[in-house]
Amino acid sequence: MEGTITDKPKGSVRVCIRVRPQLKREVLYRQVVEAVSDKIVHLLRDGSIVEAQFDRVFDQDVSQKEAYESVSDAVEAVTKGYNSTIFAYGQTGTGKTFTILGGSFTGKESVAAARDESSATKSAGRNELPQYAGIIPRAADELFHFAQQSALKAEKVDVFCTYLEIYNERMHDLLEPFKKSRKKDPLDVSRKKAGLELRDDPERGIYVPGSTVVKVTSAQSLMKILRRGNKHRTVRQTEMNQKSSRSHTILQLSVEQKVNRGGKAVLIRSKLNLVDLAGSERFPQMESEEERIQEQRTINASLSALANCIACITEKGRVHIPYRDSKLTHLLQDSLGGNCLTTIVATISPSECAVDETMSTLKFATRAS
Ligand code: ADP
Ligand code: MG
Repeated sequence: MEGTITDKPKGSVRVCIRVRPQLKREVLYRQVVEAVSDKIVHLLRDGSIVEAQFDRVFDQDVSQKEAYESVSDAVEAVTKGYNSTIFAYGQTGTGKTFTILGGSFTGKESVAAARDESSATKSAGRNELPQYAGIIPRAADELFHFAQQSALKAEKVDVFCTYLEIYNERMHDLLEPFKKSRKKDPLDVSRKKAGLELRDDPERGIYVPGSTVVKVTSAQSLMKILRRGNKHRTVRQTEMNQKSSRSHTILQLSVEQKVNRGGKAVLIRSKLNLVDLAGSERFPQMESEEERIQEQRTINASLSALANCIACITEKGRVHIPYRDSKLTHLLQDSLGGNCLTTIVATISPSECAVDETMSTLKFATRAS
């Protein structure tokens, strides 16, 4: 497999499917997913084969490096001043966090064919990244490399990050503990419960007043920040995956480039959004708690708001895109559609026990492409 997916026109949406290897707990189930080429996937369901075609299908043995390299033009677009978003979509336990963050951030379940997570590979003679590092550390590494190179050309490049969580349609700042002197005043507490608001600024685009913005200078320091931020994620135990998250997490890497245009210093701002979506399963399995059902309804509503926006973007000639229907699409309004590049990596399990959820993920992915 070589190069990036496609040179689709700007403003387009591209969709990849990633099939993960079977987990140990799945080995007794039949495998019902087959990547028949790097674009076509077959799902065996109720005795017949469902065929679906995408921009790219990553089979079980595709490495983190290969997967990243196929979507890395999303990062390149940001260095050129465009906004870009990469989503991981899928049922809990299918590899969203593995794809977006990497192996050491995922749950403790292991794949049936055990692999060594410790080895590191050299990437273009630069930093050593662990083999299982996902899209975020690889994208960050590329961004910082670009920033250094660019600085040699007497341009100043700064990278800032914000790390947000949307849980039950409320937005929270995962980096908040980085702020010094947090006051415990009751107004602050109630504001925190209500969540952060969104603002639309003609200069800055959509932003979140009050959210913590941290300047980052290396992929390693970014990963440290994310590890601390992740401790604050709203995680709950489910039957499926102990670390399954019921929330969307959004890392925004904002790049500010000071360039000289005809003797004038101009600031070019662009954003890379890396989104680990909440599990897309229709109903929490083996659970009937009212609160959990309500939680899943909110997740489903927000995922279908995303699907609607993406469908409107892909349909040519649509003027109104319903960004305001959810916090997530509103937050990403200036990074979806327009001349932004949107990438969806939909993750699936190969096993028969997940066939219905896999079917629904393929439907979502087909609608988006
Ligand atoms: P999700 O975030 O969708 O709930 P995870 O990313 O936590 O799922 O993945 C579930 C388990 O499967 C983890 O133990 C992870 O390491 C493993 N896994 C997921 N995708 C892959 C892959 N492509 N190759 C190897 N292991 C994977
Ligand atoms: Mg996860």
